[in-house]
Amino acid sequence: MNSEEKPTLEEAKAKGMLPAVTLVGQDGNAFFIIGTVKKALVRACLAHLAADFQKEATSGDYDGVLRAANEVFGGRVTIMKSKIPRLDLCHDCGAKPGECHGDNCDVERCSVCAGQRLMCDCKGHDKKFARWVGLWPGYAEAKELGVDLNEFSIRYAKMFFTKPRK
Ligand SMILES: [Zn+2]
Ligand SMILES: [Zn+2]
Repeated sequence: MNSEEKPTLEEAKAKGMLPAVTLVGQDGNAFFIIGTVKKALVRACLAHLAADFQKEATSGDYDGVLRAANEVFGGRVTIMKSKIPRLDLCHDCGAKPGECHGDNCDVERCSVCAGQRLMCDCKGHDKKFARWVGLWPGYAEAKELGVDLNEFSIRYAKMFFTKPRK
């Protein structure tokens, strides 16, 4: 490979090879930023610059990571904080996040059939497995999968809410 195929950061900038990036993540944490920048470099066929970036980014504090990212992208890095839902008490029984639901709670999922526990009578249901986690059952999973809760229930609920037998 000749040097034309491996431009330095300055050459890449001059040629407009670097994309603008918007970082959306959990408070734009450092590892997420580094990972995103490295991927963007690889996509722009500038993988050879990724190691340099990582070295520079990890040599200081969090601000150093941002500075390094902005250095690469010419100040076009935007950090968007993701909205982290607040963890609530169970809407029905009032369990705290991480606790088992109370008796006859209509939110509790059955660990055998994945349906509403209140409506079924499956043997072997595990209340601890079906604990309240502070979010509506399936809410976070559905969001991550890009489906609504109905579709989640139909396609994924069994996988997420039932306890494996072995
Ligand atoms: Zn509950
Ligand atoms: Zn059941």
